[in-house]
Amino acid sequence: MENSSSSEASVGSGMTKSIYCLRCPRGCLLQVEEEGEQIVVSGNACKLGEAFALQEIRSPRRLFTSSLCVRGGTVPVVSVMSSQPILRDDIPRWVELCRTLEVEAPVVPEMCVAKNPFGDGIDLITTWYVERDNDAENQGR
Ligand code: SF4
Repeated sequence: MENSSSSEASVGSGMTKSIYCLRCPRGCLLQVEEEGEQIVVSGNACKLGEAFALQEIRSPRRLFTSSLCVRGGTVPVVSVMSSQPILRDDIPRWVELCRTLEVEAPVVPEMCVAKNPFGDGIDLITTWYVERDNDAENQGR
């Protein structure tokens, strides 16, 4: 998966990468210079930007969002998210997990749907409400 918020350019012997900081709405454009083991960050208006850039270079993470099928609800799906940002490389297996899961209505926000599914302490949780559909229940749906 490509990160649309970054670009790379070779400067001298090192590599410079431009990325937008996603830690707050200000969205500073960060310049990240890699010279061997050394990484220099500029363009950040606060320290969070430096931490963000270092994480982006070493092991980028994203909050995962998706939806799950709901059984017996007034609507057929509910939105879900990871309880913490996941490694960007792990996104495909979280997508696959969501394909295999189904929840039973009623659903409320922050219900744990999958507890620590990949052993990294991150859960899959719901983010919205789905009420029970009593008509569906009577008709065996
Ligand atoms: S560097 Fe600081 S001020 Fe700039 S976007 Fe990141 S968190 Fe916000």
